[in-house]
Amino acid sequence: RGDSRDFDEEVESVCPFCGVGCQVSIKVKDGKVKYVEGINGPSNEGRLCVKGRFGFDYIHHGHRLTKPLIRREDAPDKGLNVDLNDISTHFREASWEEALEFAANGLVDIRSYYGGQAVAGFGSAKCTNEEAYLFQKLIRQGFKHNNVDHCTRLCHASSVAALQENVGSGAVTASFNEIENADVAIVIGANPTENHPVAATFFKQFAKRGGELIVIDPRAQTGLKRYATHLLQFRPGTDVALLNAVMNVIVEEKLYDRQYIEGFTEGFFEFREHIRAFTPERMSELCGIAPEVIRAVARSFARARAGMIFWGMGVSQHVHGTDNSRCLISLALLCGHVGRPGTGLHPLRGQNNVQGASDAGLIPHVMPDYQSVTDKEVRDLFRHIWRGTELDGSAGLTVVEIMDRVYRGSIRGMYVLGENPAMSDPDVDHARKALAKLDHLVVQDIFLTETAMYADVILPASALPEKHGTVTNTNRTVQMVRRAVPTPGEAREDWKIIVDLANRMGLDWDYDDPHEVFNEMKMSMKSLHHITWNRLETEGAVTYPCKGPDDPGQSVVFGDGFPRRAGRAKFTPARVTPPAEMPDKDFPMILTTGRQLEHWHTGSMTRRATVLDAVEPEANCSLHPSTLRKLGVAPGGKVRLVTRRGEIEIMARADRQVAPDMVFLPFAYVEAAANVLTNPALDPWGKIPEFKYSAVRVEAVDSG
Ligand code: SF4
Repeated sequence: RGDSRDFDEEVESVCPFCGVGCQVSIKVKDGKVKYVEGINGPSNEGRLCVKGRFGFDYIHHGHRLTKPLIRREDAPDKGLNVDLNDISTHFREASWEEALEFAANGLVDIRSYYGGQAVAGFGSAKCTNEEAYLFQKLIRQGFKHNNVDHCTRLCHASSVAALQENVGSGAVTASFNEIENADVAIVIGANPTENHPVAATFFKQFAKRGGELIVIDPRAQTGLKRYATHLLQFRPGTDVALLNAVMNVIVEEKLYDRQYIEGFTEGFFEFREHIRAFTPERMSELCGIAPEVIRAVARSFARARAGMIFWGMGVSQHVHGTDNSRCLISLALLCGHVGRPGTGLHPLRGQNNVQGASDAGLIPHVMPDYQSVTDKEVRDLFRHIWRGTELDGSAGLTVVEIMDRVYRGSIRGMYVLGENPAMSDPDVDHARKALAKLDHLVVQDIFLTETAMYADVILPASALPEKHGTVTNTNRTVQMVRRAVPTPGEAREDWKIIVDLANRMGLDWDYDDPHEVFNEMKMSMKSLHHITWNRLETEGAVTYPCKGPDDPGQSVVFGDGFPRRAGRAKFTPARVTPPAEMPDKDFPMILTTGRQLEHWHTGSMTRRATVLDAVEPEANCSLHPSTLRKLGVAPGGKVRLVTRRGEIEIMARADRQVAPDMVFLPFAYVEAAANVLTNPALDPWGKIPEFKYSAVRVEAVDSG
């Protein structure tokens, strides 16, 4: 932090980390970020968390990729065996011309020999909307199929599946800032003080002014616990049992909003019959919450004038993730808590642009704006916009399915932009073996990530503060990202690299600037009506849907009906499904994974940010003090975590938030990668892996 003399220039942009989308002023000196301050964006009102304030210097780290790289012919076998300080044994520098030719030719050769289905693409929620749009267009147009996905599959795919099914839209029905108009708010399966810290400040303010905050989570979160009127530390994996019991009370005590249900929903009578079996008494033993607490929560939420529900990956990352979200949607519908100020459903989105990348069509079963690939009219629209391209009418494969096909040899080439499946996939050893089998892997990134270590060609790309374009946060707010500093060395902006590759693959694209891409997106995306590039340059942020050129956008939607048949939302009953893998005598405890305040996702950025890495430098897991005592391990000692997929050794912390039969494991650390252990079992609707529940054995290694 300095004063006005400390910088040459200040540029307003957006934080590159979480989905809150805080607006920032980046102070630049000598072409480098000097420091960052929060400005008055609609989601942050000047606030920033530690990542936004102190996390930007990763962009100047010495590990930045500054030249295109091609794998040496005499390189050792592919693997995580690259020394980041001397990569010359594995890769040689190449000109852009050579690298782009090599990248494109490799993919085209596979297409010619095996067909387009033998190539798949992973795009990125760290890129802009325009880049996400171009990436999915390249795969769909260039390979004539829909095998394109991104990390939404690993975070809220099940939430989106349930929202689309029952509400008709995958985005939030209300911004998180609406909490200031609520009386009651439920936060379930989310840890916003660590993962969405600025959103958490609004939640705390809500509680301080008398709002009723109900926190439901298997981990007793210290961050929100102090503010909670109810803290329900339920047994992991029993979400449906607990939520159905809450709704049983609302139904049996006739606390539901009859008028709302009659006016705006369908399926209530079947749902009411279904829910009668889930009495608090019957469900209490399963979920570990006393019947009277279930009743108190049900009454509070149902009787509130305005209630909101927020959820995170604790809800979504289960084999029953879609059912969990269906329950939350039904709960809101029962009480009429949708469509008014202070009401709504809000899955807190993880990455800074996961909402925008999903909106832009980086999903295998939908085109931009969630228009189904199976709908001929939709394909005709895109064929027209994309100048005659034939498009595949069947849904493509999702992230985990793609890696499985790679492992089995039917997908032989991949283009990976800004994703890191060698760290982020469940059962990551399987994903790494798959990556090593690829005939041709093109990786576009800013660092030599674990995935890039398997690449045949690496294209050095841009960090968010080096880009110009738009991103969309968890509130559906589209915001302008502005270039503050140049890309280092020969690195290029991602949109330019995608266009260059597309043209080398014969697609004949012609874009000179991201705003031309944005204008093309508007041709097919009704969500962008009344949102123009000029408005975003001037106003910085506009929320969709937007009713007119002067409307800043709608914070709350669906007050007058839903984008479904007859304008009605739907009740979908959910049954109790156990986790895919239960503890047993060999693996008696429960492993759950997540993030920490200082580190973001696979750590490629935050572990290269000086302050963040200094605060949280070492891989760690958290165990209850009584569990550590039983193991004979002091806090700071080392334990071995063993699951059916693999094992890691890691420093153990004492943490009373974690139940005695659980281990909490952050997934940012490559030296003790959480996903070596996780279960790749998928939710059948959202195809999201069960990161939040694996059976694990904990062994003492070093008593500390
Ligand atoms: Fe960045 Fe999220 Fe922190 Fe805001 S809350 S500063 S968007 S990481």
